[in-house]
Amino acid sequence: MALKTIEQADFKDKRVLARFDFNVPLTKETDDSGARVITDSTRIDLALPSIKYILESGARKIILCSHLGRPKGKINKKFSLEPVARYLAVALGMEVILTETAIDDNVDTLLGLPDTKIVLLENLRFHEDEEKNGADFAAKLASYADIYVNDAFGAAHRKHASTYGINTHFKNKAYAGFLFAKEVSEISKLMGRPEKPFMAIIGGAKVSDKIKTIEKLMVCVDKIFIGGAMAYPFLKAKGFEVGKSLCGDEDVALAKRILSQDKGKKITLPVDHIVSTDFEGDPSTTAGTDIDENMMGLDIGPATMNQYREQLLTAKTIFWNGPMGIFENEKYAKGTFTIAQTLSESTAFTVVGGGDSVSALKKSGLSDKISHVSTGGGASLEYIESGDLPGLFALKFGVKS
Ligand code: AMP
Repeated sequence: MALKTIEQADFKDKRVLARFDFNVPLTKETDDSGARVITDSTRIDLALPSIKYILESGARKIILCSHLGRPKGKINKKFSLEPVARYLAVALGMEVILTETAIDDNVDTLLGLPDTKIVLLENLRFHEDEEKNGADFAAKLASYADIYVNDAFGAAHRKHASTYGINTHFKNKAYAGFLFAKEVSEISKLMGRPEKPFMAIIGGAKVSDKIKTIEKLMVCVDKIFIGGAMAYPFLKAKGFEVGKSLCGDEDVALAKRILSQDKGKKITLPVDHIVSTDFEGDPSTTAGTDIDENMMGLDIGPATMNQYREQLLTAKTIFWNGPMGIFENEKYAKGTFTIAQTLSESTAFTVVGGGDSVSALKKSGLSDKISHVSTGGGASLEYIESGDLPGLFALKFGVKS
């Protein structure tokens, strides 16, 4: 069944409850007015087309909702959506009223007033029933509106009240926003019949976190390039020395399991490394694949960068998740930026998912050279792994009450 998008909805005179991912990074400190400041507004900016479309289509009221951070079911002003409300008001040029909580009586009063047009519910995660997918909480949210819109792809892997349970109340009245629909259609291209050669680059910290993704990708890709701390358990499993590099026994066992499979041949590992005595030390390059016992690997080496780059440039489809080293430190960022640069030059269909790879792309100003940059790190990985997401399934088929 195809996903219904907001273009298929009739919003005229309707109240619309719209779930977004406004989980933006904020400064730790407050400004002169006592508020925290948004440091990257991308997630709100990407929500604007759907909000504008719903308003322009004649909706009577739009009730926006989202989570922000991890307030763990308690009201905590540090995680207030107040900075988001202010940003939205400026971006839309309209009044945006922030409620005190998502479910207090004032919300009903507010929605009863004829002039309120845009209401932003305060952080959904101030209520533990959001993450517990509480039925009463979902019913209360649903009572505010005639139509439900989900544009929070970044939260679609969560079985929460506002992304999952709520669909019980909107049979045939639930629609995907523009961003949600685009994420699904672009990432689906990797799982359908991607143009070959299809290559993936997987980096980051732990094999166990991404084991399912690697196993799933091994079925459909022609090659997987491994980088970051992910590489050391694989190298150790193959009998190389990894020195003091991050390398847990559990991850080595998982790596062995992957390499023992026939498809394990698709795994390509670094042939040299940038190493140091500790995280803050000065970098040096190894002569080969082994790492001395007093050294730790912190980035892929120059020969690896060249090999990965050369092969990636022959790909027709590329998926990238996870940095090649401790890219937050300039001394160990070259591997990650080489991958970003390579993808930007490639003529392949390129998809990048995952917070760190996306921020590396942004830092290098190359995002617009990538076919699709996913806003949902966890959601994009889970979608590739399982071919579905709770929030997507519920939007398409509803959920049993
Ligand atoms: P992930 O969330 O799994 O994508 O992991 C991202 C984190 O892995 C980043 O914070 C990197 O600094 C870290 N990382 C990448 N390479 C290494 C490495 N060689 N040693 C330790 N940490 C690393």
